[in-house]
Amino acid sequence: MSRIHVTIWNEGRHEKTSEVVAGVYPAGIHGALASGLAADDLEIRTGTLDDPDQGLSDSVLQSTDVLIWWGHCAHQEVADELVRKIHKRVLEGMGLIVLHSGHFSKIFRAVTGCSCSLSWREVGEKERLWNIAPFHPIMNGIGRYFELEHEEMYSERFDIPGDAQLLMIGWFEGGNVFRSAFTLERGYGKVFYFQPGHETYATFFNPDILKVIGNAVRWAKPVFFREMAAPCEEAIEVIRTVNPHDPSASAGLLQNADGSNR
Ligand code: ZN
Repeated sequence: MSRIHVTIWNEGRHEKTSEVVAGVYPAGIHGALASGLAADDLEIRTGTLDDPDQGLSDSVLQSTDVLIWWGHCAHQEVADELVRKIHKRVLEGMGLIVLHSGHFSKIFRAVTGCSCSLSWREVGEKERLWNIAPFHPIMNGIGRYFELEHEEMYSERFDIPGDAQLLMIGWFEGGNVFRSAFTLERGYGKVFYFQPGHETYATFFNPDILKVIGNAVRWAKPVFFREMAAPCEEAIEVIRTVNPHDPSASAGLLQNADGSNR
C-alpha cells in the first residue's frame, strides 16, 4: 500500500507566546494533529513558520500529497515566493486542507481568489455543526450533526467562491451561522476548508473533528501530479474548413489545427 504523504504546517506562534495555548497544545497544534491523524496509510510530517525554509522546503513540498495549513497572526510573514510554489503545486494536483483562521492566509486567498473576510466573536460559545452532505466521503462516519462545547464564532457573510461545495453549516449559540466546511477544485488539486480550530480550545482533540480532517486527507489525495500547461492540440478529425489566414490553403486541402496542410 502506498502511503499518503501528509505535511501538517502550523504557524506555531501562539504556542510560544500564550500559556493558555501552550497548555491546550503542549506539542503544538501540528503535534496534536499529527498524533490525532496517525494511521497506517499516512506518512505524516510537520513544519512551522520558524523552521528553516519556513517549514516547507522545496523537497518537502515536492513530496507532499496533502498539505494541512493552520495560521493566524503571522500570515504576512509567509514568503510570497513560498505561497507561489504552494499554489503551483495545488494546481498540479496537491491536496490542500485549510483550517480555521487559515481563511486569511495568503495561500487560501490565492486559491479562492476571494478576500475570505468574515465576522467573528471570541466568547467560548457552543457550536453545532450540521452535516448537509452525508453522501460525501469527507462526511463518512459523521452523524446529522455534532457539537463543540467551545469555539470561536465565525459568521456570514464569508467571502468565498460561488463554486464551493458545502458540506457543513455551523450554528453558534449566539445565533450566527457559517459555511463551516466546503470543497473546491483548483487545477488538478482538491481543496478543503474547515472552520473549527481556535487555538485556545481543544478542538483538534475532538474525535469528530479528527474524523473529518482524516477523511479530507484521503479525499484530497492526488490522483496524479501534472504540470499546468496550454499545449497546441493536433486535430483528431479532418478539418475541411479553409483557414482564411493561410494564403496557400484552398478548399479541399486537409487543414490541421497547427496550420499545416497534411
Ligand atoms: Zn481563532
